[in-house]
Amino acid sequence: MKHLPKKQLGQNFLNSVGALELIIKEAELSKEDCVLEIGPGKGVLTEKLLLQTKMVVAVEKDRDLLPFLNEKFEKEIREKKLVLVEGDVRDIDIQNYLPQKYKLVANIPYYLTGDLLKKTFSTTYPPKSMVLLLQKEVAQRITDLKKSSILAVSVWAYGEPKFVKTVKRGSFQPVPNVDSAILSIKNISKKSFEHFQVSEEKFFKVLKAGFAHKRKKLRKNLGEVFPDINIENLLKNCELSNDCRAEELNVNKWFCLSQKL
Ligand code: SAM
Repeated sequence: MKHLPKKQLGQNFLNSVGALELIIKEAELSKEDCVLEIGPGKGVLTEKLLLQTKMVVAVEKDRDLLPFLNEKFEKEIREKKLVLVEGDVRDIDIQNYLPQKYKLVANIPYYLTGDLLKKTFSTTYPPKSMVLLLQKEVAQRITDLKKSSILAVSVWAYGEPKFVKTVKRGSFQPVPNVDSAILSIKNISKKSFEHFQVSEEKFFKVLKAGFAHKRKKLRKNLGEVFPDINIENLLKNCELSNDCRAEELNVNKWFCLSQKL
């Protein structure tokens, strides 16, 4: 198939059998599973997913790839094992195509990572687990327990991320400027919000306030958004030092602050 890769759509096609096998292994798929794939591209991952699962829904934005995918998976589409959806995943209500329980497995374009994580977690029924191939630096940031970030805490609020393995840039065609990594996120749910009786809206308001100014201490950042609160007492109630910085807190401390604010 002749297809000129579109840079603006992050089209770096995976050509490493080892990486594909590891993604599939990490996803722990069964014949009962329904899977969402974002950006099937030329279908290398789709093909493997179809072998292991009950059903795959694949959303592809590049309409030039659709005729190829329709032909390649003609049988699976006819048997309703594969549903190909043309469009931008950010504009699509994926719940229209999937049951409440599903898994997300994808080699995602770099530019989409932030939006995609935000959207998938905030839907009413987020996936039960995810295995993503994404920019290595982002996977490292999400799983760095020593220095936290808004992105990392946002992920930990819903699930348990794990850095699985680096995938070198030479495993893609065309070769990107950076290395990638496989990131797995297990046990995804909204349980922590229920447990701490905190709304997602409140939690993210506190998180954003806490990380607003990198150089400032947490006390200062929170004080600017919540001027009527005794921040010193609040920090004490969550067993935090008055001098701590946002990046030192784990996700439970953020839940504690949100609960008590
Ligand atoms: N899965 C293929 C593979 O592993 O070789 C392709 C991966 S490539 C990194 C990303 C894919 O996502 C491309 O096929 C691209 O066209 C598609 N894509 C980019 N932006 C998208 C969006 N907003 N919604 C859905 N698909 C998108």
